[in-house]
Amino acid sequence: MIQKLVIANRGEIALRIQRACRELGIRTVVLHSEADRDALYVMLADESVCIGPAAAADSYLNVPAIIAAAEVTDAEAIHPGYGFLAENADFAETVERSGFIFVGPSAQSMRLMGDKVSAIAAMQSAGVPCVPGSDGLLGNDPEANLAIARQIGYPIIIKASGGGGGKGMRVVNTEASLLHSIALTRREAGAAFDNDRVYMEKYLERPRHVEFQIIADCFGHVIHLGDRDCSTQRRHQKVLEEAPAPGISDGQREKIGAVCVQACKAVDYRGAGTFEFLYQDGEFYFIEMNTRVQVEHPVTEMITGVDIVQQQIRIANGEPLRFVQQDIQFRGHAIECRINAEDAVTFMPSPGKITQFHPPGGPGVRVDSHVYTNYSVPPYYDSMIAKVVVWGHDRDQAIARMSGALTEIVVDGIHTNIPLHREVIADKAFREGCQNIHYLEKKLANR
Ligand code: ADP
Repeated sequence: MIQKLVIANRGEIALRIQRACRELGIRTVVLHSEADRDALYVMLADESVCIGPAAAADSYLNVPAIIAAAEVTDAEAIHPGYGFLAENADFAETVERSGFIFVGPSAQSMRLMGDKVSAIAAMQSAGVPCVPGSDGLLGNDPEANLAIARQIGYPIIIKASGGGGGKGMRVVNTEASLLHSIALTRREAGAAFDNDRVYMEKYLERPRHVEFQIIADCFGHVIHLGDRDCSTQRRHQKVLEEAPAPGISDGQREKIGAVCVQACKAVDYRGAGTFEFLYQDGEFYFIEMNTRVQVEHPVTEMITGVDIVQQQIRIANGEPLRFVQQDIQFRGHAIECRINAEDAVTFMPSPGKITQFHPPGGPGVRVDSHVYTNYSVPPYYDSMIAKVVVWGHDRDQAIARMSGALTEIVVDGIHTNIPLHREVIADKAFREGCQNIHYLEKKLANR
């Protein structure tokens, strides 16, 4: 077994990885920036190394500093978490070339799946249903692009092949604005992702976001851990997630889960991964694959009992999966609320000192958070400060428990989106389930 592992990330996921390691008897080295020096998980780690100043480019994205820290601490493996370098194939390659184990898929898989156009092409040939769209990247011929859009039918969405984080997307309703929108998306994508390639998809008007978690070892064994509904979004970013996705039949779950498993085998995938789909009128349409552990992984852990982070580490350690598909039972229902340091009305970030933190507890409640009373939320990074996750025998009980947890939680000194979560959990439409990706934005517009 790996003896010592470097955690190249921060916040709640740094703590989450640490917990997984502790159970496996692996020593941890947390890398942190100057701004995260006082983080509790830094003190809780077996070792810690400061790798640079607050700016992520100089610390959490500083590859030479990360490799050097792994070398001086005699670590064997590097876990990238999510965000930062987690989906950077060049980083994965550098890690392996430097003689360390990268906890994640091969650089080759990351490259294939990291580019949305090549991912869609690979998935299409593996038999995964995709959104009708341009066959690959858009060229520079205006007439050809107009013809592609006409064939797909408006509305369409122009998407950056290298996009992520809900950025680099533009909906086009009429032919008159198509060419201008393509040019604009190209320019934005070039500036944001250093890659101005774009493609076109049918814009689905009222889909849900339903994704499948898979895990694959190095011996060709692949299983899926069912689905999650992540339709509660703001600006294409997830706010609340649940598992299983309401209203999806066991038959559909088995069918699409099996398609994802086959697709992983077809591209020789290894590690944990997520197939993201849009789901509308009973049909699934693949949009992209994430080649890392996701923020919302705990809801799947709650209903399957599988520790996804430990599985990532075991797979990286070269172990075969210890279970087969039939061993995976889905029990009950889980919901996760992402608690952000931001104003619940304006969504302005709200960093600063937390003067009082009281996490909720009780049966079926799990809180993944790195914050504590007197902790200062730094202004430099993502605003997520905690994930409140609940499990119930069914969706109604999970909602009741989340409602209780959101009443109990105290975060004083900064603004958070807890009031927004309370509103959603109490909302009649949310309680009915099966809301589409526009649900939250519409609700906010009606405030
Ligand atoms: P990112 O990599 O930036 O997260 P995704 O491709 O995963 O981008 O899409 C994020 C979200 O954007 C989806 O969950 C959905 O809300 C919306 N979206 C993406 N593609 C489409 C589409 N073809 N039709 C409608 N909505 C879409």
